[in-house]
Amino acid sequence: MLAESFVLKANLFENGISISEGAKKFLNSKSDIWFMDNSYITCTGVSMHFDDQYITVSVRPESKYKLVENNEKIFISENEKNLFEATLIFPPNYMKGDIFIGGKKITKYVNTYTDRIRIQAMHGCANSCKFCNAKESGYNFNDIEGLDEAFQIALAQSNASHSFISTNNVKDEDGLKKLTEIIEYFGKKYCDMGLDLMTSPRGFTSYTDSSQYAPYLNHIKDNGIQGIAVDIELNNSDKFKYYCPEKFLIGQENYFRFIEQAVEIFGVNHVRSVLIVGLESLEETLKGVEKLAQRGCNPVLSPLFPYGEANIPPNAELFILAKTKSEKICEKYGIKMGPLCGPCVHNTL
Ligand code: SF4
Repeated sequence: MLAESFVLKANLFENGISISEGAKKFLNSKSDIWFMDNSYITCTGVSMHFDDQYITVSVRPESKYKLVENNEKIFISENEKNLFEATLIFPPNYMKGDIFIGGKKITKYVNTYTDRIRIQAMHGCANSCKFCNAKESGYNFNDIEGLDEAFQIALAQSNASHSFISTNNVKDEDGLKKLTEIIEYFGKKYCDMGLDLMTSPRGFTSYTDSSQYAPYLNHIKDNGIQGIAVDIELNNSDKFKYYCPEKFLIGQENYFRFIEQAVEIFGVNHVRSVLIVGLESLEETLKGVEKLAQRGCNPVLSPLFPYGEANIPPNAELFILAKTKSEKICEKYGIKMGPLCGPCVHNTL
C-alpha cells in the first residue's frame, strides 16, 4: 500500500500548489531564489521534501493545495488544514542565471535539480517530441571550456551528490562526434564522481547501427561514465511514432537492444529508462515497465507534464495506480524503480 505522502505527491502533480503571502515572505527572507523558472517544463516550480517524498511542483494560484507559513515553518495545506510540514530545497544562487560564460547564461550549460547537476552538452534538440519543449531552444552545442567553467561553479555552489551529462539528440554524424568529445572529457576528468549519461541508443557515428552499440558503451565506460539513462518514453508503437517521430525512426527494438547491452556492460542498477504516464493507456505503460524490468533496467515513471499537443490533464489516480502496479511488476524481477536516489525522484513518481 502506498504511503499517504505519495498520494499527496500524486495530487500535487495533478493540481499544482499555490503559495500564501506569508509563505512567500518567509521564503523571500531565506533565499533569493526558491522558484525554479527552468527551461525544462519537468523541472519548473518549487522543490521540496515532505515525509519521505521529494517533489518539484508547479505553482498554480487556483490550486486547492497551498504552501503556508506558521511559526517559521512551511506546511502543505488543503482547506486550511496542514497536511505535512515541508522543507524547501533552495536552488543554488547561480540558478538565477545572472552569470554569463562565453556570452551565454550559465544555466544554458548546467542546472542543479535537488541532488544532481545536469551538464548540458547541447542546448535544444534536433528532435521534436510532442511533449517536450527542448525544440524551442534551437540547436546549439556548448563548448567544453564553457561547460567545464560552468560545472565547476555549479559544483562549488550545489549540495549535490550526482551529476549527469545530457546530450539530447543531434542531426548528423558530426554532432554525434562532438557529443562523444564532451562525454570523453567529462567522463575522464570527473571519473571519481560517477557521472551518468542520458542518451538515445547510439554508437560512434550512428543512432541506428546497432552493431556499434556495445563497442560504444564499452568506450564510454572506459572513459569514466558509470551509468546510462535511455528513455523509451512510450510502449505503444503508434503513440511512440506520433509523439516521438525521430526516436521512432531509431526503432523501439533498437532501444531495447541498447538497454540490454547497457545492463550487460554497466550492470543492474546502472541503467534506467523513463516511461511517461498519461500519454498511453495504463496497460501499455505497465507492458513497458515489464519489458524494462525483465532486462534489468530500472523503470522510471514520469507523470505527464502537459505541453503542446500532449496537453492532457495530469491524473493523480492514474499516477497512483501506475506506481502501485509497476512496483509489483518490478518486485517479480527483483528490480527497483528508478531513480535510485530519493531527491532525484523529485519530478518522477
Ligand atoms: S529527444 Fe525528444 S524528449 Fe529528448 S530532448 Fe529531444 S525533443 Fe526532448
